[in-house]
Amino acid sequence: MIRKIVNGLIYDGSGREPFIGGLEIEDGRIVKVFEGACEAAEEAAGGEVIDAKGMAVTPGFVDIHRHHDVAVLHDPEFGQLELAQGITTAVAGNCGLAPVPNAPERMAEQFSYIEPCLGKMPEDNTLHLMSDYMAALDGRELPLNVATLVGAGACATAAMGYESRSFTPEEREKAVGYIKDAMEAGALGMSFGIMYTPECYLSQEDLAAMAAECGRHGGMVSCHVRGEGDSLLSSVDEILEICRTAEVPLNISHFKAVGLQNWGHALGHAIEKIEAAQADGQKVTVDVYPYTGGATTVMTLIPPCVTEGKPLSYLGTPEGAAHLRSEIYKKQPGWDNMVESIGWDRIIIGSVTLEKNAFCSGKSVAQIADELGMDPCEWIGQLIAEEDGKVGGILMSMSPEDVDRVMLLPYAAVISDSLYGGGDNPHPRLYGSFPKIIREYVMERGLMTMEQAIRKMTAMPAERVGLVDRGYLKEGYAADINIFDPAAVRDMATFTKSKQLAEGIAYTLIGGEVAAAASRKTSGAYGRLLKRK
Ligand SMILES: [Zn+2]
Repeated sequence: MIRKIVNGLIYDGSGREPFIGGLEIEDGRIVKVFEGACEAAEEAAGGEVIDAKGMAVTPGFVDIHRHHDVAVLHDPEFGQLELAQGITTAVAGNCGLAPVPNAPERMAEQFSYIEPCLGKMPEDNTLHLMSDYMAALDGRELPLNVATLVGAGACATAAMGYESRSFTPEEREKAVGYIKDAMEAGALGMSFGIMYTPECYLSQEDLAAMAAECGRHGGMVSCHVRGEGDSLLSSVDEILEICRTAEVPLNISHFKAVGLQNWGHALGHAIEKIEAAQADGQKVTVDVYPYTGGATTVMTLIPPCVTEGKPLSYLGTPEGAAHLRSEIYKKQPGWDNMVESIGWDRIIIGSVTLEKNAFCSGKSVAQIADELGMDPCEWIGQLIAEEDGKVGGILMSMSPEDVDRVMLLPYAAVISDSLYGGGDNPHPRLYGSFPKIIREYVMERGLMTMEQAIRKMTAMPAERVGLVDRGYLKEGYAADINIFDPAAVRDMATFTKSKQLAEGIAYTLIGGEVAAAASRKTSGAYGRLLKRK
């Protein structure tokens, strides 16, 4: 247990200028923050004092957008790559995707759908409600603090399955009941993934009813909007309207404009809409990860009209392949066609489940099709059929200027959007998002000050999701703290070699305990489940 940090450059999370000073810790909380240097050597008895001379002292990083819902339950490695980047609190349940709630009779189908993003849930799972899930984590020793949102997609799937329609009144009531269960159990808020089935088929009233239930319990809504390409503007309008009706604060997840034809201009119009809503008094914010590629299940590449009412094996048949080819190169009204807008050479296979397909990890679909002498559309159909849709993809879909523009918005928090679908080449954001901000945005490119960057990774996201005692170095706050030499912080993960732990964070404390030293996890587990207060 550390009880004092001295001689550090204190960034308190608020965005104000740093100062030389230190802090005192008792029972896992910060009890005093003070200015001025002091003689550390005499005090360093028992290893309970850290002399942070020459180093930044910041709140622990808070990642409000990860997909570790399954990993935290079942992956013994969970914690290593997170602590290596200084993440002390991570929020799951994003983009509507979650293993709970689930209906026992449809559980297998739901688990299969979320596997590319969240990883494999065991078939003998006994957790059905969000309250079961929270109870399973509550009181457990965890490598870092975790909290969760309730995913609207999971609620909708549990209520009616993967149907291409809106709710019946009974189903809507059921879905709202799942939100209530989660909020009462301590979920921070809820998430939409309106891009995904079955949410994309729900009515505005269905979506607003779920959001309103979340709002009644004091939660917030984080939303993966319906479309981030040609339909970005209508999608932003849609969620602004839903959350205005539901009277609930809105955070737009991984805010971006995808597709070459949208680069440079679409985002500006979307920002105008958000800022107009803010000027009208609506609570709206965004978050962003610092990469120009996105990652998701490759099922988002397939026009819904091709697979509607058919098993995925259809895509592997000559008839299915011909059907796919006839639709996949066309604009589809109301649905963003990524193949049409970025092309096969910008779509990289991230994860697969079958050994025979392992060779394609890290290669673009264009490259693989070329190697195999196949038509890319025919090949992707065959792959999806073989893998039963469990394929993760990386889409190099964004412009660097657009990413910077979002990053610099005063209301944009930093997230990772980390997926835990496995595979040999996951998106590098899983390993490097937070150090990349320090290395690239602050140290190398000077696009923001360190205090701005720290605020975007600590106090801003913590406040947004209602984590009332995290994100600041302040009296009474949890002693979740990072200590590092900014020049030493490195994200090591790249798009072609992503499985590499970050480097350069000297100490990461959770509740005053050393959870990681030199960017490597220690043997202790000092985190716990955090709930909405
Ligand atoms: Zn998402």
